[in-house]
Amino acid sequence: RGRATLIGLIGRGIAPSLSPAMHEREGARHGMPYVYRTIEIGQREATADRLGELLASTRRLGFDGLNITHPVKQLVVPLLDELAPSAALVGAVNTIVFEGRRTIGHNTDVTGFGAAFDETFGTGAHGRVVLVGAGGAGAAVATALAGRPIAELVIVDADPGRAEQLANEIATDVWDSVRAIEPAALPDALAEAAGVVNATPYGMADHPGTAFDPALLTDRMWVADIVYRPAETALLVAARERGCRVMSGLRMAMGQAADAFEIFTGEPADRRAMLADLEEL
Ligand code: NAD
Repeated sequence: RGRATLIGLIGRGIAPSLSPAMHEREGARHGMPYVYRTIEIGQREATADRLGELLASTRRLGFDGLNITHPVKQLVVPLLDELAPSAALVGAVNTIVFEGRRTIGHNTDVTGFGAAFDETFGTGAHGRVVLVGAGGAGAAVATALAGRPIAELVIVDADPGRAEQLANEIATDVWDSVRAIEPAALPDALAEAAGVVNATPYGMADHPGTAFDPALLTDRMWVADIVYRPAETALLVAARERGCRVMSGLRMAMGQAADAFEIFTGEPADRRAMLADLEEL
């Protein structure tokens, strides 16, 4: 490669993002000139027209690819020429590559959570999995889980309509072992569960505590959190105390970055080193 790889991150409120440091450190490990820049957009730029102009501009400026984050992961979908299966399934894109004149969208939140899940909890069969939180991140998690050998996916959200909608989107002709439940039914659903995933903001500094009572956890269950700042959420602390196997949100965050790096560069990412970077940053 004769010139630097140039990648951008488009989104709102992205100044504190760890993506530039994570990507540039991984590029440095490969000995490649690799530049990753944030492209902050305002509220008025979060329209299909303005986003389309921005994509065209970044391509003209020589960007090789982009990460896309809140609030435009869904808005960007119809602007692209092609979608990888991960993005088509979830209807959202967090990674774009420019290949010649074509723009191809991927979703490495889906593939990143999936890879982290397999690595942490194994690729064997699981019983019932309960997903708490049916927002954007919950949709990526549900899509990843639906592609794995789990007996049943149960989705709950404080807004029951969201859980219902996500369950409908996830169900397919070949796999429909997914249903939404009301928050009041969560204790019963958890009593029979093999594992639970938190995809609500609970555990972050501005959402202290847990989305549900950790007394509902038993040592037979695994517990995954997708909140990663802080990495040790109140839920994971309680789960460890109860003897549960746990997966922190750092693994999904690392997985999405590693998968994006591989898409951008065609080089294998050093996942162990990227996780260590994330723990340190
Ligand atoms: P969102 O606002 O789209 O969705 C959150 C959902 O949780 C909402 O539907 C809300 O109704 C629901 N909810 C809130 N409290 C609840 C409760 N007590 N019980 C059940 N449902 C409840 O947000 P999002 O974009 O999906 O992000 C959620 C969190 O995921 C954020 O805190 C973010 O930090 C984290 N995240 C992590 C990664 C990662 O790579 N690890 C990636 C994306 C997002």
